[in-house]
Amino acid sequence: MTSDPSAQIQHFIFKLHISSSAVLGDLNRDVSRLRKDIESVSERTLSSKSLRLEGIKSIRCSNRNKEDLNKKTRSYADYPLKTGVKLEQKDEEEMVLTSPGSKSISPVKRSSCGPPPIMPQVSFATPSPCLTLLSLLDRLLPSLPPTVQDVDVPPLFRERFILAGYRPTGQPWRSYALSLFQMHNDTLNVWSPLLAAVCMALRFMMFAILRGGGPEGQGISVDVSSLPLVLYMFSAVTHLSCRAAAHLLHAHSEQAHRSLFLLDFVGVATYQYGCALALSLYSAAGGWTQSMLGKIFLPASALLLWFSCAVCCYTKLHLRRPHRKLCQLASMGAASWLVLSPVAHRLAAHSWRGSPALLHLLQVVLFLLSAFFFSCPAPECFSPGRFDIIGHGHQLSHFLLSLCTLAQQEALFQDFLWRRPALVRDFGEERLLLACASFPCVILTCGMMAVAVSRGARAQNESEPE
Ligand SMILES: [Zn+2]
Repeated sequence: MTSDPSAQIQHFIFKLHISSSAVLGDLNRDVSRLRKDIESVSERTLSSKSLRLEGIKSIRCSNRNKEDLNKKTRSYADYPLKTGVKLEQKDEEEMVLTSPGSKSISPVKRSSCGPPPIMPQVSFATPSPCLTLLSLLDRLLPSLPPTVQDVDVPPLFRERFILAGYRPTGQPWRSYALSLFQMHNDTLNVWSPLLAAVCMALRFMMFAILRGGGPEGQGISVDVSSLPLVLYMFSAVTHLSCRAAAHLLHAHSEQAHRSLFLLDFVGVATYQYGCALALSLYSAAGGWTQSMLGKIFLPASALLLWFSCAVCCYTKLHLRRPHRKLCQLASMGAASWLVLSPVAHRLAAHSWRGSPALLHLLQVVLFLLSAFFFSCPAPECFSPGRFDIIGHGHQLSHFLLSLCTLAQQEALFQDFLWRRPALVRDFGEERLLLACASFPCVILTCGMMAVAVSRGARAQNESEPE
């Protein structure tokens, strides 16, 4: 038997029956008072005549076994509700609610002849399979709490010019997981990376199936020349999943908010290093690869991404707006420009004709637009409250960045088909392997740094006087 009283109590549903309308004046008053008393100690009312008592710690039965009932109904009989309302045992099958200062409301069984007695009755019925199923469904799919206004959430969760649509903090984790299907101001921030991750994974599977080639072929294969593309895919899907998870679950608490967005920053660094790897090997023009920047590109990217991730994590925990946003924008902007430099060079130095060049152009344009909406609270600053649920700048930023990732993936597929046959000859197998081996090292060091920053902030908070 579980020791959790609220879990135990969920096996029972008390149903309040009103059988006639003749004396409903008095009875309704009694019943409504009783209902209020019960509601005041229960989490919610399932329906107008069916009350579910949850979180009542003095009820200890775990099931509706008759032997159990004989032993344990005494705890119900003595159970005091608020304002003196009592549950008393009538017999094995029935419990009576007694209202204070009024007549006792006793259970009366229905009679087949004559009008039914006019009394509210509380029955303690064995849950039918249907009720059990409904109860189970209710437990799995609880009614989600409504969204609240900005003044109802801690300042950490408030966004400028977003006045409503926040999820209340302190709910069970499953409420936040199920809020995937609820409209709130993070809904699109969750769905856009989530759908992009699914689309990318499906597109990669299609590409691998349709373009699968042997070691000498043009398509994807299990060898070192395909490995950077696989790592890029892993980094992109990881990043999009971390972002979706962070926006889905962060409203649970301030601690969860900070931890999940640190995870998001590590996801961003992972993705950017995956981009650096794939763009420098598949998409860069020959002149850029031979240049000084091309030669130091991967180590420089790794260092800058680690630094950018460290700045984002530190400022998330220690700074407030607008300094936090400025620091994050500067560090992430510098890292992003370095990562996109092979593409920028190719667009600047070569013709834009051809499908990959146009897709690269599209990804740069989408990235710039995304950065704009990430840094500016537009359009909500022009009409506060109007874009709370759909259309505020952060959502547009994530939506555009998801499109940018999809365009980038498509461009990389085309570049891969073009560059793969000569990749080992151009770079050498050892250099390619070394480049791929640096990928887990960068993720690991960024992850360790995020954990260290988080622990440092927690230790500092604990050492600060109240
Ligand atoms: Zn976000």
